[in-house]
Amino acid sequence: MADPERRFYRAARVANQAMDGWLPDHAVGVANGKIVDVLPSADAPAHETVDLGDVSLLPGLVEGHTHIPCPPRVDAFDIISVEPNEPALMRAAHAVGLALRSGITTMRDLGSKNEVVFAVRDAIASGVIPGPRLLAAGAPITRTMDHCWFWGGEADSPEAVRAQAQVTVDDGADVLKVMASGGNFTPTSNPRDRQYPPETIREIVEAGKSTGIEVAAHTHAAEGIRAAVEGGVRHLIHCRWLSANPEEGFKYEPELAQRIADEGIWVNPTIGLGLLAAEARQRGDTAPRRNPNLQGPSPRQQGLEILRDMRDRGARFTSGLDMGMAYADFNRATAEAWAFVEDIGLSEWHALRIMTCDTAAAIGVGDQVGRLQPGFGADLAAFTGDPAANIRDLDQPVFVMQGGAMVVGEPSP
Ligand SMILES: [Zn+2]
Repeated sequence: MADPERRFYRAARVANQAMDGWLPDHAVGVANGKIVDVLPSADAPAHETVDLGDVSLLPGLVEGHTHIPCPPRVDAFDIISVEPNEPALMRAAHAVGLALRSGITTMRDLGSKNEVVFAVRDAIASGVIPGPRLLAAGAPITRTMDHCWFWGGEADSPEAVRAQAQVTVDDGADVLKVMASGGNFTPTSNPRDRQYPPETIREIVEAGKSTGIEVAAHTHAAEGIRAAVEGGVRHLIHCRWLSANPEEGFKYEPELAQRIADEGIWVNPTIGLGLLAAEARQRGDTAPRRNPNLQGPSPRQQGLEILRDMRDRGARFTSGLDMGMAYADFNRATAEAWAFVEDIGLSEWHALRIMTCDTAAAIGVGDQVGRLQPGFGADLAAFTGDPAANIRDLDQPVFVMQGGAMVVGEPSP
């Protein structure tokens, strides 16, 4: 007997299970929050079928790198470095709703106050507020007054770093974040500086190990990349190869890049942020303050050239726009996919895999979401046009479903 809760969602183009081509005129069957079938529309029971029309139906998007309390404004530092938790909570609750309506059904936050991000994650999980399924790092571990110190994760010695990692694990972290170099956002920080030696980063990796928690390392500095890799980190964030010597600009090390590729370490290059910033500059928008400590050249084109070399070596990429930074509002995650195609030369389908199954695998939920496959969560997002032909069609969706619940679109008949 047919399940009274079962519905089929028909689309002109449905992503195949491998996420490398369209199934023309197919329907995805959904019941009890799961995908139960993917079949030609002609075989779906008409009275249970909702016709989404001439759209491209994909798995719900998976976003790998956000900061949900951060306002995406050029003066964000002045706000979040001093405000109490209450406004941060309100802003974060708004941000996750915006992200969900933009098609993101799973998201990883890589740096926020523990009191804010874990509360929002738990509120989403218990159905109090709408939002993507959230995995959260809590306070990034950073040196005193260094990158994002204001989120509460300051620690300098190996012992203090280990203790801080343990506090964040005990508070409920799903992943740990370490600032392996300084960052642009924090004016007392220098993006060219390595923050910790490999042995200290290893303390964080060890703190997460017993509970299966992995570590993501922010690094703009080549020396930060080396320390993270040698410390056992599995996720490199930004992965820019700035030299410690400002006159040198970048210091790319091809052998280390090959090791990153060979060991399958995930790379989140946050290139969509540069794309959005460049477009904002063209519009004449106010630019963020330049970090006063960042001297010497770091041209975007040279950074992209390095990433194309990492691509050729087989590096594995994840999504992650760094939403919450200037220009990166919580409905803009797909700009990272645009940049993968336009700036790194990946195929559209490769970029679509990064936005779905690849990042789902990277963050540890690849057996539950990220593909239109029976048994997987009923997370769906449909877009007008064909993002496999024009990646910019991967923009605001006309239909979003999360765990079988309608988020965007017409209610079922
Ligand atoms: Zn970030």
